Amino acid sequence: METDKNKAIFLDRDGTINFDLGYVYRVEDWKWADEKVPQALRMFQEEGYKLIVVTNQSGIGQGYYTLHDMQVLHQHMEQELKKERVIIDLIMYCPHARDSRCACRKPRTGMMIDAERRMGGIDFTTSWTIGDKLLDMEMGQSVGTKTGLLQSKYWANTDIVNRTKQPDMIAESLYEAAKWILKARQ
Ligand SMILES: [Mg+2]
Ligand SMILES: [Zn+2]
Repeated sequence: METDKNKAIFLDRDGTINFDLGYVYRVEDWKWADEKVPQALRMFQEEGYKLIVVTNQSGIGQGYYTLHDMQVLHQHMEQELKKERVIIDLIMYCPHARDSRCACRKPRTGMMIDAERRMGGIDFTTSWTIGDKLLDMEMGQSVGTKTGLLQSKYWANTDIVNRTKQPDMIAESLYEAAKWILKARQ
């Protein structure tokens, strides 16, 4: 049964939405992880999911680029998506260095808790977390979302076999994930 509460797709950014070159911060380095990323996001949006980006940006804390650089890049992302009739509802980011003890760096759940509050409530149980690393899965599972793992360039190093909690789904791309999730709901 559908509830009134928001359901969301929590999206990792690098390796999920855009191709992960490592510390992506320049507009000229922005490239979709897969050409069907905008289409996948539109499919989720049309099914009533809120689209929430949840991204670790430790390059800021480490001084590789600035908060402003990231904001300019996010504006570019949003503009490109708007052309495809996709609106991102919220972008959460952790700007802290890798060794920071902040509450927000994935796999910690600070960004999820904050997003839930900012959206005026989200039903995690009907929501999904999609990313290309196990830290995305761990964060999503910690708050009770379903999880989808994408096979990006990190796939070869992804030790899924030894995990007690498996992702709910593994897909080659966000588009394949969207097809699977939306079909699975029907
Ligand atoms: Mg990633
Ligand atoms: Zn943080």
